Amino acid sequence: MAYIITDACIYCGACEPECPVDAISPGDGKYVIDASKCIDCGACANVCPVDAPQPE
Ligand code: SF4
Ligand code: SF4
Repeated sequence: MAYIITDACIYCGACEPECPVDAISPGDGKYVIDASKCIDCGACANVCPVDAPQPE
């Protein structure tokens, strides 16, 4: 399991520093999560203003 960032992402960057395993990075038009690193903690979802990170 991993979280994914949906197209709802507004590219604010708030989630990136919250990830304990540095799985989040700026992508093409939205931030992206490296599924091989994500430990499913939900910290990104807790800070996102638009609920873009979702459990896959
Ligand atoms: Fe990082 Fe946790 Fe979000 Fe996975 S769920 S990307 S580990 S903050
Ligand atoms: Fe996108 Fe939400 Fe992360 Fe902001 S906090 S970059 S809107 S996923």
